[in-house]
Amino acid sequence: MPRGASNERVEALVRLLGLEPSEKPRSLSELVADREVHVLLPEGTAPAGGYPTAVLIHGHSPLGYDYFRSANEVYVKGAPVAELLRDAGFAVVLPSLRGFGATMDPVDRALGLEHSCERFARQRLLVGRTLLGDRVRDLMELLDAMEMDGRFDIESLVTAGFSGGGTAALFHAACDSRVRHLILLSALCTARHSLLATRHCLCNYVPGLLNFGDWGDVAALVAPRRLTIVHGERDGVFPFEGARAAFAAVEAAYEAVGMTKRAMFLAQPGGHEPYPEVLWQLMGVGLKRATT
Ligand SMILES: [Zn+2]
Repeated sequence: MPRGASNERVEALVRLLGLEPSEKPRSLSELVADREVHVLLPEGTAPAGGYPTAVLIHGHSPLGYDYFRSANEVYVKGAPVAELLRDAGFAVVLPSLRGFGATMDPVDRALGLEHSCERFARQRLLVGRTLLGDRVRDLMELLDAMEMDGRFDIESLVTAGFSGGGTAALFHAACDSRVRHLILLSALCTARHSLLATRHCLCNYVPGLLNFGDWGDVAALVAPRRLTIVHGERDGVFPFEGARAAFAAVEAAYEAVGMTKRAMFLAQPGGHEPYPEVLWQLMGVGLKRATT
């Protein structure tokens, strides 16, 4: 742990996150039974090498893993993008961020809260861990379970996250080289433009991060794997100016390895949105590559 790229920067990030391995790794069927993950599979048996696979991670939504198949804002052509992708031949894996859905603390649910971010983040900070680190560990455990399952083409794995789900996807992909293409939907920014400028949820905060760098420096660790930033020019949560500033660090990292075409910034005319049409188009390219 971390997986793959074991350089000093990744090791330093793992330490800041307070990342700890799972005590008892679970199988995919156990994660599904525990209602931490939902899986959509195409009809028929898996092709040799496994289904082309997308992991889609919801934002700060009480819907948890249901977000990418039931929220109006993720519809494309009248259907949820997760179902469209499944119908196009993708396995679609939908995790709930820890603190949402079935992983909420029952006390918070009884209080009528939408998540357990505050409670979990405060608990973990006292012992040198972070809730974001736990979410990264959860995603590593999920990929371990998918590898063991055997029906998923891990070699072409795409992970996409919206907003806070993008934050988890970003830190995970930085630490886990099994993610071959990371798509951040309204998620990249700098601390100055977001965490320091407004009151964000405690689940976004990693003590000591600015001594390491900023979110753009975390994203730089994804190089030379594919990284696509989809960001609205009117984003009021992670301001566009901050996303562009963070991407400068990304561009520098990809230039350093001569792979500038692998990092893309797709500016959108809208606000803080999941941009399902763009996600659909990006995955369409992946589908063609997976089948030719
Ligand atoms: Zn939160």
